[in-house]
Amino acid sequence: MPQAFTVHDYADRMARATESATRAGLSGLVVTPGPDLLYLTGYQPVALTERLTALVLAPDRPPTMIVPRLERPDAQGATGAPALTLTDWADGADPYQAAGPLLDPAGSYGISDSAWALHLLGLQETLPSTRFRPLTRALPMLRAVKDDDELERLAAAGAAADETFRSILSVPFAGRRETEVAADLTRLLLEYGHSQVDFTVVGSGPNGANPHHEAGERVIRQGDTVVLDFGGLKDGYGSDTTRTVHVGEQAPDEVRKVHEVVRRAQQTAFEAVRPGVACQEIDRVARAVITDAGYGEYFIHRTGHGIGLTTHEPPYMVEGEEQTLVPGMCFSIEPGVYLPGRFGVRIEDIVTVTDTGGRRLNNTPHDLGVVA
Ligand code: ZN
Ligand code: ZN
Ligand code: ZN
Repeated sequence: MPQAFTVHDYADRMARATESATRAGLSGLVVTPGPDLLYLTGYQPVALTERLTALVLAPDRPPTMIVPRLERPDAQGATGAPALTLTDWADGADPYQAAGPLLDPAGSYGISDSAWALHLLGLQETLPSTRFRPLTRALPMLRAVKDDDELERLAAAGAAADETFRSILSVPFAGRRETEVAADLTRLLLEYGHSQVDFTVVGSGPNGANPHHEAGERVIRQGDTVVLDFGGLKDGYGSDTTRTVHVGEQAPDEVRKVHEVVRRAQQTAFEAVRPGVACQEIDRVARAVITDAGYGEYFIHRTGHGIGLTTHEPPYMVEGEEQTLVPGMCFSIEPGVYLPGRFGVRIEDIVTVTDTGGRRLNNTPHDLGVVA
């Protein structure tokens, strides 16, 4: 079991977030329930409701969180609460009027991507000259650089996903529905210590050509290529890995060829990881390998995404993302080729940036796995 985060961890994170906001030219941050609030305070309301909860970070005031009065005892119980000033509003009052004094009426704030439109519009009505920008655009690095405790959790989640893959190789595929193999993946992820399963993609045959196919009623057949992409949360941090397998030893030449191209793309992108390289460069080098092999138009998905308290988060490894890699960042490298009506191939590892390069948090073999 990793060590629990302390009030000092949360106080440091809030101080760093406030500094980054200032550097980004913002007056501060408005953080609503979800992964940003959990990261900064350890607080997760019991249920996400229509009542406004918001943490306001700004350089000229101590971190302040406004909560519904009836949820105040819950908020007080959060690990980060001693580092916060709490204020509340009662049912029947206008929460936006109550929050107004916390914000600069002429300021500009980063606001959580997941803030409800209800709340953002309410704040805008109360403070018509205050501007808001989504945190993905304003501060994509807010949660991106992981400390050692977070890295330990992400590595453990990756190792559990790897155990899941090793075990799934020995379950029967031919003659069973995708949903049955997906249920095996769920069971194994939980057995290996996950508390939550976010996705279990089993894309057999033509279903593999849809990167976001989950699992359906199709019965898997001998000779199918199957994309397996699964992950969830273990001790609060995410796993996400993909391997492509073949049902039976005799994979057709084109499946072998495409798999080898994707393997090389994944390896080339991994070898490009080092501090100072732009996120879009990771996408470009993977894409160049696949394009040179003639499959560029079938690589329809970005190359990767950040991972941490959630299984998908900024910054993204995609054309246009100029943010540079920093030691401690964790993200997926998941090139793929998706041939409509035929099959798909994807290989995905979570990688962390070290001082000199990259380190994989998924370590199962990259060859085309064989299942029965
Ligand atoms: Zn995707
Ligand atoms: Zn994935
Ligand atoms: Zn992924």
